[in-house]
Amino acid sequence: MLSPDLLAEAGRQMAICNACRYCEGYCAVFPAMERRRTFTDTDLVYLANLCFECRDCYYACPYAPPHQLAVNVPKVLAELRTETYRDYAAPRFVSRLFRRNGLAVGLIAVAAVAIVALLVLALRGPSVLFATHLGEGAFYAVIPFAGMVLPASALLLYALGALLVGVVRFWRDTRGTLRELIDARAVVRATRDALGLEYLKGGGAGCTYPDARFSHARRRLHHLVFYGFLLDLAATTVAAIYHHVLGWQAPYPLGSLPVVLGTVGGVLLLVGAGGLLSLKRRSDRQPADRAMLGMDVGFLALLFLTSLTGLLLLALRETPAMGTLLAVHLGTVGGLFITLPYGKFAHVAFRYAALVQNSIESRRSSGA
Ligand code: SF4
Ligand code: SF4
Repeated sequence: MLSPDLLAEAGRQMAICNACRYCEGYCAVFPAMERRRTFTDTDLVYLANLCFECRDCYYACPYAPPHQLAVNVPKVLAELRTETYRDYAAPRFVSRLFRRNGLAVGLIAVAAVAIVALLVLALRGPSVLFATHLGEGAFYAVIPFAGMVLPASALLLYALGALLVGVVRFWRDTRGTLRELIDARAVVRATRDALGLEYLKGGGAGCTYPDARFSHARRRLHHLVFYGFLLDLAATTVAAIYHHVLGWQAPYPLGSLPVVLGTVGGVLLLVGAGGLLSLKRRSDRQPADRAMLGMDVGFLALLFLTSLTGLLLLALRETPAMGTLLAVHLGTVGGLFITLPYGKFAHVAFRYAALVQNSIESRRSSGA
């Protein structure tokens, strides 16, 4: 259940902003706020998930702390988003384990790596784990194909199912009907806004992150992470076609499509996640929510480690380090999948639902 005190504080700040309206051109939050005279709890949850935490409104606000009105919109909306992710995550008893998200993500990642490494040691022995394996099927000499694919597929399906349940709950609470979720025009506009990271452009000068100066760094790094993730997904899909349709077993040659896609994707992800971690480290703490910061760092660190171990595995696959790196990489990927519905990745789903809702609302209010 969302904290009544937090909802009251978010409602208080939105009421002040609705009277002031100085920031109405900054992002989608303010026009959506202005379409309301009062704010229900679900209105506030919706507004929180529309916010991209660009912080422009914080640095522009004459009522920000130390003013006695203490308006700090990015912070209060980030706190509400953190609670949204917990409250809508399914199943709820699992989401409670992620209250201290950064710590939980770290412990799960370490446990996943340890479990995979210990299983390989117990079932295959050190002579297999630490040996050099060459040629087609070399990876499966260490971990059988079914031992890689079945647990990873099960974890991914679980994560996607848990996220879907959460988003459907979120949508029902904030909007009402599932039919509107498939409103084609709204979906197209929301997809365009999401893929272009429209609201991180600010008025064209970028957003005020990590500090009060305008910068495009956050938007560019987000793009690297997003497209790196998509390329890695494409690499895995092509590799699955090679394996199941053409009967070719990994590891594939350096010039092959899965390796090229995976390498480019891995580098983009590594640079993007590393850059975002560096921005977070330098970012102003005043408009930040500590819990959200921990969640961000946990997720970005896992992404960074997943791409790093993947690239190291590629570089050292013909050495005795391959078995250990394979176990560490698969454990990291497993940790990433387990934590997807309970960490920062959830923002992709909730923000997208909020953007669809915003598109429907703005169209209706303009009479289009
Ligand atoms: S954040 Fe401050 S300046 Fe912006 S609309 Fe709200 S009260 Fe006005
Ligand atoms: S932080 Fe940025 S996205 Fe969030 S409400 Fe303020 S201006 Fe809008």
